[in-house]
Amino acid sequence: MTRSMPETLARVLGEGTVLTDAASLAARRHDYWMLSHVRDHLGASAPSPACVVRPGGVEDVQATLRFASAAGVPVIPFGLGSGVVGGVVARPDAIVLDMGSMNRTRFVDPVNLQASFDAGKNGLEAEQAVAEEGLTIGHWPQSVGVSSVGGWVATRASGQFSTAYGNIEDIVHTIEAVLPNGELVILGKGPRASAGPDLRHLMLGSEGTLGVITGVTFSLRRAPETRTVSAFQAGGMRAGFEFQREIIQSGWRPPVVRQYDERESLRLDARATACLILMVHEGPAAVVAAETAAVGELAAKMNIPAAPPDIVDHWLEQRNHVPSWEMFLQRGIVLDTVEVSAGWGAIGAIYDDATAALKAIPGCLAGSAHSSHAYRGGLNLYFTFAVQTDEPGAMEAIYLDGWRGIMEATDRHGGGLAHHHGIGRVRRAWLERELSAGGVALLRRLKHALDPAGIMNPGVLLPDA
Ligand SMILES: Cc1cc2nc3c(=O)[nH]c(=O)nc-3n(C[C@H](O)[C@H](O)[C@H](O)COP(=O)(O)OP(=O)(O)OC[C@H]3O[C@@H](n4cnc5c(N)ncnc54)[C@H](O)[C@@H]3O)c2cc1C
Repeated sequence: MTRSMPETLARVLGEGTVLTDAASLAARRHDYWMLSHVRDHLGASAPSPACVVRPGGVEDVQATLRFASAAGVPVIPFGLGSGVVGGVVARPDAIVLDMGSMNRTRFVDPVNLQASFDAGKNGLEAEQAVAEEGLTIGHWPQSVGVSSVGGWVATRASGQFSTAYGNIEDIVHTIEAVLPNGELVILGKGPRASAGPDLRHLMLGSEGTLGVITGVTFSLRRAPETRTVSAFQAGGMRAGFEFQREIIQSGWRPPVVRQYDERESLRLDARATACLILMVHEGPAAVVAAETAAVGELAAKMNIPAAPPDIVDHWLEQRNHVPSWEMFLQRGIVLDTVEVSAGWGAIGAIYDDATAALKAIPGCLAGSAHSSHAYRGGLNLYFTFAVQTDEPGAMEAIYLDGWRGIMEATDRHGGGLAHHHGIGRVRRAWLERELSAGGVALLRRLKHALDPAGIMNPGVLLPDA
């Protein structure tokens, strides 16, 4: 009798590690990508994979990848499934490698300010493990409680406190990963290196296409001595952008700086009369006092009035909410969030053009944006669109129209097309505009060198050849 692929793999890994029951397969068919949920809603769901592997340790990941490379079986790494760009969409011939089973804290080192975790560790649990020692990772994506530390690396994630603490690439110290041929690599040793290209960047943003991240060591911070908040409201988005630019380019670094357009400001707080700008200041008490005072002086100089600071307290309480798509889909509403970035000189035009494109979609209920990550050279914009239709068959096209409007407006003004959610499936077609044709060709050659059998997460990140 010929064995099925899952049966053969189960003989390699052990019975309990390879799951084939319908519930386990169905639960890992896709991530949080809106379009997968639209398709579920319309009865055109992603198929279940052939099996789910729940590795007990690095050796199981190595054995799985060796097996898959030899047999030419696709492998789809799965963290905790909170990705929003279609990085996980199962197919009937694939192994879904569920890294959530590898979730140990390996060590917390309060002297060198490091903490190391298995890649499947839940982000909030990782933060709690270091908080017990008076430390913080400082990485707070809205999805902190439903995403894994390996997923953060695989998607080049950003946390809400990034303006001071940096994005995931600034916080990661060491990445342990298994290459498609089963080889183990440990990348990142000292606090800084001049030892050839930084190979950690092969895994940062690789979205499961170049290997499987099995362990992550973070460079930590001591928990801040003090935290305070401030809030302002600018007369329009451009005035707010100028205020933010002045703060950041003067050298101040409030960890949180968020600016909402008028629509989102009102949604945040009914007292808003214009574009709210919310800030959180953290660190040594003297630095926090100096920063708060300096920001207040700049606001006065630029005629930016203060807003009630309890709006920031309310945002802090609500900030990790994870909404359910189904509630909207039942009302015929297609929605999504799309993040881009650009230099200070272009961000205003991108905001205007992208929101205009969204509002031009028939049935548009909302086309709005806020910024949430500021840099010396520019900032990000995080668009939200919601469009209602009574034609279920039109939902997918409407969804793609929303994306196209934002991508094209951003590209037209020279902005970056993906700030922190990654490329997945939804942005593949625009990758060449981000990396150039030569850049995509280079990535393709790297992918082929590491994964000649093409087993790692096919259909993600790279556009079809
Ligand atoms: C409500 C909500 C809010 C969000 N807020 C933020 C935010 O503030 N900032 C932000 O950056 N993102 C945010 N996200 C997006 C998402 O949480 C991040 O992309 C997160 O990093 C994904 O982690 P995950 O473990 O859930 O990965 P998954 O969704 O399981 O996988 C995402 C991608 O990474 C790959 N992958 C996962 N684990 C591994 C691994 N160990 N090795 C190799 N590849 C792997 C997968 O194959 C897939 O391509 C949000 C999502 C939701 C639903």
